[in-house]
Amino acid sequence: MLETTIAGSLPKPDWLAEPEKLWAPWRFEGEALWRAQCDAALVVLKEQENAGIDIVSDGEMFRQHFVHGVLQRIDGIDFERKTTIGIRADRYKAEVPTVTAALSRPGSIHGREVAFTRAQTTRKLKFTMPGPMTIVDTIADEHYGDRPALAMAFAEILNSEALELEALGVDVIQFDEPAFNVYMKEVGTWGIKALERAARGLKCKTAVHICYGYGIQANLDWKDTLGDEWAQYRETFPVLADSSIDQVSLECANSKVPLDLLALLGGKDVLVGVIDVATDQLETPEQVAGTIRAALAYVPAERLYPCTNCGMVPLGRELSLKKLHALGAGAAIVRAELEA
Ligand code: ZN
Repeated sequence: MLETTIAGSLPKPDWLAEPEKLWAPWRFEGEALWRAQCDAALVVLKEQENAGIDIVSDGEMFRQHFVHGVLQRIDGIDFERKTTIGIRADRYKAEVPTVTAALSRPGSIHGREVAFTRAQTTRKLKFTMPGPMTIVDTIADEHYGDRPALAMAFAEILNSEALELEALGVDVIQFDEPAFNVYMKEVGTWGIKALERAARGLKCKTAVHICYGYGIQANLDWKDTLGDEWAQYRETFPVLADSSIDQVSLECANSKVPLDLLALLGGKDVLVGVIDVATDQLETPEQVAGTIRAALAYVPAERLYPCTNCGMVPLGRELSLKKLHALGAGAAIVRAELEA
């Protein structure tokens, strides 16, 4: 009951990559980089265990960015051909690679990493990949000429990969779909179909993470335009409730998401964000417990998973670790109350 988990990323140690930075350059190359990433993964797995996190992840130590980690080993994408696009409905500009031919997956993308991390912990293991709609929104396309078709091509590749990772012993496969909060209409017309295609045939738990993004300035500015009540989820939750995806991860700590929207998720597991990743302020365990108790009004305890709002990669490492401990301790408080 109230098993804790994290949305995905954690800060990389400063000996592995430049700290507190998205797209931080690596400090190693080739086989030395691989060994350093393994060492970092081992450290963050242990840190999660110590903090009382029940469903752990590699903290995304093996990828530079949550989208482009998976893209690097897909054929049909030209990484030399950079195009500047306005992503998330032009919220920010990014220089992205370009799809120039039919997509294919020549071999395993994340298998080596997952085989390594699986062997390091007996806890349940979660693995995250970007969802098809978010990939389509973070890449330029000169081949397909149609966003739904491109999303479906990525979904097939993600699905082959996910089936392989499941066979390696992953317990939860999560697709990150921040784009679901931006293109609400398209979620219903093609986003959800592509997501379900990516998850087809998986017997492990499947999750989707939707969010209002990291605490970077462009996101903070965007949140300021959303008004006093963030109701984006009102459109997407009923679609997700009808879908084959098992779990939905969203931000609830310090957010203006009306918690009664959680009731729209029907019988889904809900990963309730109780740790704000957009502030240097540290939550107390009691504050975490308060957010969990508020969500319990709409989600039963056996389907509620206390979690972080989003990835913690841009945060300081010490702060992130303290936040993990607050998450574990806050969940323990409520668990004790429920068991009393
Ligand atoms: Zn997020």
